[in-house]
Amino acid sequence: MRLRNITGSREVIADSQFVVHEPAAQKGCWSSLFGNSHPIHIEIGMGKGRFLMELAARNPEINYIGIEKYSSVLLRAIQKMEERELPNLRFIRMDAEELCEVFDRGEVAKIYLNFSDPWPKDRHAKRRLPSRQFLERYHQILAADGRVEFKTDNTELFDFALAELAPAGWQTEAVTRDLHHDAALLEGNIMTEYEERFSSKGNPIYKYIIYREGKQAE
Ligand code: SAM
Repeated sequence: MRLRNITGSREVIADSQFVVHEPAAQKGCWSSLFGNSHPIHIEIGMGKGRFLMELAARNPEINYIGIEKYSSVLLRAIQKMEERELPNLRFIRMDAEELCEVFDRGEVAKIYLNFSDPWPKDRHAKRRLPSRQFLERYHQILAADGRVEFKTDNTELFDFALAELAPAGWQTEAVTRDLHHDAALLEGNIMTEYEERFSSKGNPIYKYIIYREGKQAE
């Protein structure tokens, strides 16, 4: 996935109508960018964007934003959008650490984390997207009834993600350690690129859906 050095990827991104080039300028007014007041769902670390493109095609009444750190990976998503333009999907190239500069309090209804990088060294725990540091950022931008949905095949990362919930004040709405054999959670599941790759090797897929009880962040 780390296609970091594709020549010209930054230029393609700079010219792309599917990319929001100054996302911080949209803080608090994402609805006007889409021209409607539909809920906003984001995927953090979207990779080549297949999951979000399928979601956006199935759900025209929801606005989707895909966030990806690397230009060379985002380039692949842009190329797919050129073949299948979706008015309710836009991309941002940025590090998710900047989420709170880009989205206002309560502006996002759902956050998807799919096959996030595991950052296995302890000293890098705060870089893991389901870490308590990121959960606090999600709390800042999520609506009061917002949800975070996380899928992975990485046992250590999933165990870590579950252990982070209580200290950060989050609750589970649903948890499975075998998504592809869980009829209820599997309904409507869209496979990501990584999900297809790892499940075809026989790895079980873990998933949680979480929420934070109490009022929205102030
Ligand atoms: N979600 C896709 C899937 O399931 O097929 C891609 C998974 S890939 C393992 C993780 C992706 O997250 C990579 O493209 C990586 O560049 C991106 N990523 C990792 N940390 C990020 C961060 N802090 N902000 C934005 N993107 C990030």
